[in-house]
Order: sequence, then structure tokens, then C-alpha cells
Amino acid sequence: MKSQELKEIFAEGIFDGEVRFMEPMRNHTSLRIGGPADIFAIPRDLLSLINLHMHLTRNHVPIFPLGGGTNILVKDGGIEGAVISFRSFKNIEAIKEDAGHVNISVSAGTLLQSLVHYAKENGYSGMEGLAGIPGTVGGAICGNAGAFGYEIKDVLISVEIMDIEGKIERFKKEGIEFGYRSSGILPSELLLSAEIKLKKDRKEDVLSRVENFLRIKREKQPIWEPSAGCVFKNPSGLAAGKLIDEAGCKGMKIGDVEVSNVHANFFTNKGNADASDFIRLMEEVSHRVKEKFGVILELEIKIVGRDFVNG
Ligand SMILES: Cc1cc2nc3c(=O)[nH]c(=O)nc-3n(C[C@H](O)[C@H](O)[C@H](O)COP(=O)(O)OP(=O)(O)OC[C@H]3O[C@@H](n4cnc5c(N)ncnc54)[C@H](O)[C@@H]3O)c2cc1C
Repeated sequence: MKSQELKEIFAEGIFDGEVRFMEPMRNHTSLRIGGPADIFAIPRDLLSLINLHMHLTRNHVPIFPLGGGTNILVKDGGIEGAVISFRSFKNIEAIKEDAGHVNISVSAGTLLQSLVHYAKENGYSGMEGLAGIPGTVGGAICGNAGAFGYEIKDVLISVEIMDIEGKIERFKKEGIEFGYRSSGILPSELLLSAEIKLKKDRKEDVLSRVENFLRIKREKQPIWEPSAGCVFKNPSGLAAGKLIDEAGCKGMKIGDVEVSNVHANFFTNKGNADASDFIRLMEEVSHRVKEKFGVILELEIKIVGRDFVNG
């Protein structure tokens, strides 16, 4: 679809929220890489999201749901169709409580760290290992984020999802397949909210576990530099970072993308990196690891978008 046609869709005025055209995705990713999205829309509330979704699907415009942009590499040609940002969907609410547990409803665009903070402040346990993971609750559930033996699926009760037809339905966790950094939520589905269940605990114990995990992250990860976290998944029983390091790749650089000297599974943007350099470096690193160890590394980050901007 040409940009003029896309603008005409919005000229009909059905959408309530903010919309930008040819919006550079590097402004919306933790890597600071990514070409323009044809449409970048920030619906104000659920009704405006429903209208927008209906409008876009009727016009056959592809949709890409965006959380914090902390686990994606957007290619230099940007994203075809519409990126829908969940940044207006932020809410945390305790909805049920007994002596030992609390059930919490949380909207998809809520920052994962706001939820970790809420749990910490109230002495609720179950999310301590997720401390320091950037991005939103929606993105965390879609990728089953985790660390230190914790995974978000472990505290999940249910999710509310809008399917490609615009139908909104709640699914129990058991109805969704979760794996290591993956979920059965389809790319065409929008995650709207989730219910989680945490255990009541002593506030100081929750706090000390959170602080311990944050300290380890600060020591072992280049969290002060633009990155998308771990580039590759850990192969069963192995650490991808260690394999990359032992294959001699630490500090390797293509363009402005560098294999971090702090943690070899983090590739950092040293200035003006582009996606094609990132992909070349990824290919070179996985080639060297395969040559040295016979291990094929699988991607943890998601590569999205097109190679070139269309008309
Ligand atoms: C410094 C750093 C440290 C990190 N440490 C960890 C770690 O320890 N463990 C870990 O697991 N990850 C880690 N990550 C990766 C990343 O932060 C997580 O994967 C995070 O959960 C991604 O959330 P997001 O909102 O940024 O998702 P995005 O990057 O915005 O999106 C990721 C995917 O989810 C989809 N998505 C997002 N929101 C929705 C929605 N509402 N509905 C439907 N689909 C949606 C997107 O379409 C995309 O396919 C780290 C990243 C960085 C930069």
C-alpha cells in the first residue's frame, strides 16, 4: 500500500489517538535501530484500539503490535503497514486476595518493571527474577521472558487476547503453549491484559531477592548501552554467551555493531548502527560458533520488517 492510501484511511477520522506516518522505528527500539513504520499508531483506549483494528484489517493493512521494542531488530526498510503501540494501556490492579496470595490484573502496555516494583513494594513474591528486564508485560508474556530460573508464565493465570477478526477472548494459561522464550500467542493476535497470581511474602525478603538479581545483571550485562538483550537462545545445557566468547568473537565489530566485551551474547549499538550490519555480525558469530563447536545458535531476538522502504 502506498503512503497516500494509508493516510486516506486515517483521514476518515475513525481513529482516536495519536498517529504518525513514516515514523523511524529506531526511536522506539532499545537497540536504536530500525527504518520507518508506514503507520505508527497509539490508540488512546480499548475502544479506539478496536476501531483502529477493524479499520486496518478491513483495508488489509498488516499490523505489528509493539511493546517496549526491547526484543526486536527492525530492519532498515522499516515496517510495512501499522505498528500499534500499547503505551496507553497501563494499569495494575489487585482483584482478589486471600491470606496467602493475591491476583493482579495488568494491562499489556504496563512496564514489566512497574509490575516488579509493585510486587516488591507490597511484599508479593514470584517475579523477583524478572527484575531489570526492560519492556512491557505484553512483550514479556509473548516471549515468556525470564531469568535466574523465573519465567513470567509461572505467575500467569490468564490472558485477554484480540484475534485477527477483532474478537476479544480470555484464555487460561493452560490453553497457551509456553516454551523457552516463546509462547503460542500468534503474531496476528493482540494481547490486551493478563491476570497473574503472586504469593504473599515478607517485604524485606522480596526486596533482597530483587536487589540481588539486579546486582548480578548490573555486573554481567552491558545494560547502559543500546542492545536488545540476548541475541541468541541458550542451547540446551549450554550458555550462548560462553560459546560466542570461546569462539573468539568478543569485541568483534561490523559497522557500529559490536559483540559486547561484557557479555558476548549482547550486541551493542556503538553509535549509528544499522540492521544490515547487525545481521551480518549475527551471521558471522553463528558461523564461527558452528565451526568451533558444531552448535547451531537459534535467535532469541525477533527480526521484523522489510529490507527496503516501499514507494
Ligand atoms: C538490557 C536488556 C536486558 C534484557 N534481559 C532479558 C532477560 O533477562 N530475560 C528475557 O527474557 N529478556 C530480556 N531482554 C529482552 C526483552 O527485554 C524481553 O524479551 C521483553 O520481555 C520484551 O518486551 P517488549 O515489550 O520490549 O517487547 P517488544 O520488543 O516490543 O516485542 C517483542 C514481541 O512481542 C510482541 N508483542 C509485544 N507486545 C504485544 C502485545 N501487547 N500483543 C501482542 N504482541 C505483542 C511484538 O509484536 C514482538 O513480536 C532484555 C533486553 C535488554 C535490552
